[in-house]
Amino acid sequence: MDFSEHPCFNANVRHTKGRIHLPVAPKCNVQCNFCNRKYDCVNESRPGVTSTILAPEQASLYLDSVLERVPNLAVVGIAGPGDPFANTDETLRTMELVGKNHPDKILCLATNGLGLAEYVDRIAKMNISHVTITLNAVDPEIGAKIYAWVRLGPHVYRGVEAAKLLLERQTLAIGLLKEHGIIVKINTVIIPGINEEHAVEVAKYAAALGADIQNCIPLVHVEGTAFEGRPTPDARAMQELRLKAGQYIKQMTHCARCRADAVGLVGKENSEEIAKLLAAAATIRPTAERPYVAVASMEGLFVNRHLGEATELWIFGLEKGQVCLLSQRPTPIPGAGDERWRDLAKILPDCCAILVSGAGKAPEKVLSEYGITVIAAEGLISEIAGAVLEGRPIPKVLLRTAGACGAGVSCSGTGTGCM
Ligand code: SF4
Ligand code: SF4
Repeated sequence: MDFSEHPCFNANVRHTKGRIHLPVAPKCNVQCNFCNRKYDCVNESRPGVTSTILAPEQASLYLDSVLERVPNLAVVGIAGPGDPFANTDETLRTMELVGKNHPDKILCLATNGLGLAEYVDRIAKMNISHVTITLNAVDPEIGAKIYAWVRLGPHVYRGVEAAKLLLERQTLAIGLLKEHGIIVKINTVIIPGINEEHAVEVAKYAAALGADIQNCIPLVHVEGTAFEGRPTPDARAMQELRLKAGQYIKQMTHCARCRADAVGLVGKENSEEIAKLLAAAATIRPTAERPYVAVASMEGLFVNRHLGEATELWIFGLEKGQVCLLSQRPTPIPGAGDERWRDLAKILPDCCAILVSGAGKAPEKVLSEYGITVIAAEGLISEIAGAVLEGRPIPKVLLRTAGACGAGVSCSGTGTGCM
């Protein structure tokens, strides 16, 4: 594989080779004071924005459909809209599918680096060759002004303690990436009054760790963030900064600050056709092999049962345009770990989705590997199953996912997650 074909790492190919970002990582483990991750924004082009979120299997099918129309995509990456390692299962599963189906593509991840170190071995084995880490400060006092909070495991850190922890984890991760021969780009967001002078120290620090290139990105003005209203550095200031930082590490100068669902050549907007493919990929549809949906319900009228508690599933399909109950199937006995979910997948070879009021991460993961999507929702079966069976989006008000409160991922939260 020719690694020089990455259009972000090699400006010479940016007019001929494209990249695709698969938006599979909605959550984040850090809150940067300049970030606001809004979905559903087709007009705004900046990191953190995507029209939708895809599950790994949806992302894989979507990639196939895009490649039929945009054949010059050299790179498949994950760049949010949150952080790949705050959504590790989804990230690794997606990369695994892409690597298997498209071994000719360069695989790339963009992360804040907090949760990366434990997975460097694994991503090296998966042939992920390019990783970008956003390193905005190498002095925790400065970092404390940039990050509202940092969450590692169950703990939430704030202030200097948070910035120190993040820097330690980023330093560890960069070292490990270089030990594994992975190409590392450092993104540094230039925030006037906070780190515009300090970015040269970041360049020195990153170079000493063996990073390959730095991408100094002027702050994007984003409404609803703590840094809203702060000025954006002008082109001249950026040029001077890059000259200084360039004494220590090669500089990227053509970054287009892409969306988390960007497709095509760097700097070109997504076409309408791509927007339609993405919307279609996000809709769970029955297929000829899987024409039905299974429902966890107490009485067969409402989706109102947690998957772990369901002793039977109700199978629904469409007959003459009406949602009809076809059968009831007992679920495998609890207590057999992941085997229970594999057994469940085997009794649902004709179902594309399971509708539940709630489910754990393990069944979601195992069932998705069999092509069955777990959908958490509450309401009338006829309404929810009807939407899936007819290939329509489920009304958001019925969904029971994180963000169903309406704030979505634009919520900067408290760092403790939704209840
Ligand atoms: Fe998370 Fe910061 Fe990246 Fe936003 S910019 S997704 S808060 S790491
Ligand atoms: Fe490349 Fe910059 Fe776009 Fe990332 S945001 S894909 S580095 S051009």
